[in-house]
Amino acid sequence: MATAGKVIKCRAAVAWEPSKPLVMEEIEVAPPQAHEIRIKIVATGVCHTDLYHLFEGKHKDGFPCVLGHEGAGIVESVGSEVTKFNPGDKVIPLFISQCGQCRFCKSPKTNLCEKGWASDRYDVMSESDTRFTCKGKKVLQFMGTSTFSEYTVVNEIAVAKIHPSAPLDKVCLLGCGVATGYGAALNTAKVEPGSTCAVFGLGAVGLAAVMGCKNAGAKRIIAIDINPAKYEKAKVFGATEFVNPKDHNKPISQVLSEMTNGGVDFSLECVGSVAVMRSALESCVKGWGVSVLVGWTDMDDFAARPIQLIAGRTWKGSLFGGFKSKDGVPQLVNEYLEKKVKLDEFVTHNMTLDQVNDAIQLMKTGDCIRSVLSVSLQ
Ligand code: NAD
Ligand code: ZN
Repeated sequence: MATAGKVIKCRAAVAWEPSKPLVMEEIEVAPPQAHEIRIKIVATGVCHTDLYHLFEGKHKDGFPCVLGHEGAGIVESVGSEVTKFNPGDKVIPLFISQCGQCRFCKSPKTNLCEKGWASDRYDVMSESDTRFTCKGKKVLQFMGTSTFSEYTVVNEIAVAKIHPSAPLDKVCLLGCGVATGYGAALNTAKVEPGSTCAVFGLGAVGLAAVMGCKNAGAKRIIAIDINPAKYEKAKVFGATEFVNPKDHNKPISQVLSEMTNGGVDFSLECVGSVAVMRSALESCVKGWGVSVLVGWTDMDDFAARPIQLIAGRTWKGSLFGGFKSKDGVPQLVNEYLEKKVKLDEFVTHNMTLDQVNDAIQLMKTGDCIRSVLSVSLQ
């Protein structure tokens, strides 16, 4: 590769400050250091967590940054000590690392990893770890990945090598949204055959949770969203009933309780609202109901009455669907290739990186499931 060992100048969508449109800029991407991999990003999805950082979280010290964390690409070059990756490999950058050595990686109980960029915060990499510069200024890497850029640099503990025939404009969705929702149902909720489930929020994360409930053998899957335009898609993934909270003047937990003789066995919150988290918990049946937080928010405390848990409900959270990332993502890619996992059905818009602000707008208005942006030619 002619570019190996050199700084690459390429195009990226830079978020200079909170709540402002992203700006297409020429950035400089440093060569990978020891244990690092420089990736040419081919395709990326836009996930609500990108919008959260831009519009909702507003941590001023998280800017300027390059957003995007749901991408797929091809290895351009590798730093010293990297032995398991070669230029030309198809890869998915991972926002959760898997070093394989730390106490978390060694435990089957969690998919967290102590060595990754996210050990101290969950949004941007520290300035010393970022390999991006623009106009003489360091630009931060969002969620350790930054896929709204033609090239990015990621530590090898946060890169999954995937099947060479995988279509990158589809499997990119396994870098976040689909793996997250699907795994939340299978790995975290551990949905059981014959059970009744409720999924709150029918974006890509919620729809993937519906698919997980279905693949786990759930009998009833109640799909809940304030936007009824999402119900048709939810049916495709296996939802059996639909509820619009706006159609009812009583709490949604009461509606679900009446529909299910006391509440659902499993509920998944895929919105990112503490009020919905509470509703999802209260929609579970006493005795054994399990409610999983998947939606992302770190702004407000949540609340619930202790009796909810005392009466036997379990409230838990799920990061990246509980998948150990380097092991799980290549397997999910294979399951897609074997047609056990759907991906194409999530993609409602295909665009280019230059149209990233339009894609963000589509998600804001609820007019898409996933927009996939083509970033570089393969
Ligand atoms: P999205 O914006 O595409 O979907 C959210 C859906 O929730 C929309 O369909 C919206 O109409 C619906 N909604 C909004 N308010 C609602 C309410 N009160 N009741 C019912 N439905 C409501 O977002 P997405 O990309 O699917 O992401 C969903 C959430 O998951 C976000 O909070 C995101 O940040 C989070 N997330 C978490 C992880 C993780 O690892 N835990 C990973 C990725 C994304
Ligand atoms: Zn995401």
